[in-house]
Amino acid sequence: MTATPDVGFDTSQCLIGGRWIGAGGGRTLAVEDPSTGQEFARIANGGASEIEAAVAAAREALGGPWGRMTAAERGRLLGKIGRAVEDHVEWLATLEAHDVGKPLTQARADARALARYLEFYGGAADKLHGETIPYLNDYTVYTLREPHGVTGHIIPWNYPMQILGRSVGAALAMGNATVLKPAEEASLTALAFARIANDCGLPDGALNVVPGLGEEAGAALSAHPEVNHLSFTGSLETGRRVQAAAAQNVVPVTLELGGKSPQIVFADADLERALPFLVNAGIQNCGQTCSASSRILVEASRHAEVVRLMSERYRALTVGAAIEDQSVGPLISARQKDIVQGFLGEADEDGLAPIAEGQMPKSAPMGGHYVRPTLYGDVDPGHALAREEIFGPVQVIIPFRDEEEAVAIANGTDYGLVAGVWTRDGGRQMRMARAIRSGQVFVNNYGAGGGVELPFGGIGKSGHGREKGFEALYGFSALKTVAVWHGE
Ligand code: NAD
Repeated sequence: MTATPDVGFDTSQCLIGGRWIGAGGGRTLAVEDPSTGQEFARIANGGASEIEAAVAAAREALGGPWGRMTAAERGRLLGKIGRAVEDHVEWLATLEAHDVGKPLTQARADARALARYLEFYGGAADKLHGETIPYLNDYTVYTLREPHGVTGHIIPWNYPMQILGRSVGAALAMGNATVLKPAEEASLTALAFARIANDCGLPDGALNVVPGLGEEAGAALSAHPEVNHLSFTGSLETGRRVQAAAAQNVVPVTLELGGKSPQIVFADADLERALPFLVNAGIQNCGQTCSASSRILVEASRHAEVVRLMSERYRALTVGAAIEDQSVGPLISARQKDIVQGFLGEADEDGLAPIAEGQMPKSAPMGGHYVRPTLYGDVDPGHALAREEIFGPVQVIIPFRDEEEAVAIANGTDYGLVAGVWTRDGGRQMRMARAIRSGQVFVNNYGAGGGVELPFGGIGKSGHGREKGFEALYGFSALKTVAVWHGE
């Protein structure tokens, strides 16, 4: 059994202008542990008035101590916050394990990634500069990189710490003042992070956190006319709403949406190296990963071998409470479990049977939202299992004949977030990297360990704009051109 965690702070407040305050009317939402289905804390149920106050506090911060800091000072401060996050990895990871149902090892990796984002963006804060542009002789022309102003950040529940780090971290590095709306299913590490940042001396109003429902707090933030940039990570449907709201105010928006990412295994692949990547990329965080590799495309001559080897690994996967740190934890909610089981049920009706499943130990707590990791061996690329984002630990293997067919299948969904190519043939590596429609392509690896330095984002229905790496800093700043006429 899992003990009720000691959260260690009052989780039922918003951070607005440096002050912790409850939502109006004392409105709160339950926090459920997906491993047990039990409520263990409450968060503020912020709405339009808390968003209003948070945006005003952020605006004020731009004219106060935060707005007056130099880039180097911001950088040092972010570095300090990053080191403090490192010091709190266990606390943050435990919170996340209970809040998201994420196995502890994976939750620790997320906390370290958050620290690394702050280290990276802290280091970059004073390294991004404008240019001088040769023009007519009687002019001197240069560009300035300026913060947008108030940036709104709406993030999902699956990787709260990493997504907060890449989004808020980059925005702060460029001198924006931020309003963060974490997901209602998982707000605790955002609140804990805000406490750490405050303790490190982040000026009031630079980071404001308003937990609450998407259709209330999220909608209010995305429609707010005083927000100058929106960064949204989440589902396609919500992304459309956020973009529509941004269009009303004519503000830039970054959309990081879903995926149906393939890994493509050619006959000459180093299977021994590929295997852990093939499986882990499907079951990490119980498959609730935007860049989950839910489609494994295999050249026909090695299809049977990959089916056998992946099946062996699937049968060894264990499922259990996040805090017990099994290979796979629960899904985030009963609703998500219904969605995943809906896909499995549909596949069953279509005569598709799994070829392997993970083990569900008897010790998995009652009430948790568990499903077995499920592998399908030969799925038509047109089937829903091979086309739609399931957001659960479900992978399909799809055989292909040749390079041309592999590209056609890989590009055959609405999404384009990440892809992996496994081949020893150098020419093919280059051809595939160009032919695949996707924001990232990995050759003989998948995900490169997450790399905070690596620009990330989608094409097609996976979204637009880039986060991570230096690209995010361009996105979180506005370029101003200054042309000075000074005579010959
Ligand atoms: P979601 O769209 O339901 O929620 C995401 C966030 O949007 C939450 O904070 C939610 O409260 C808020 N929200 C909901 N309705 C809103 C509205 N009307 N206006 C404004 N905000 C609103 O998504 P989810 O189910 O939490 O996350 C899963 C999805 O996120 C998947 O599709 C996944 O692929 C995607 N995702 C993408 C990335 C990426 O980087 N591309 C990363 C993680 C998750």
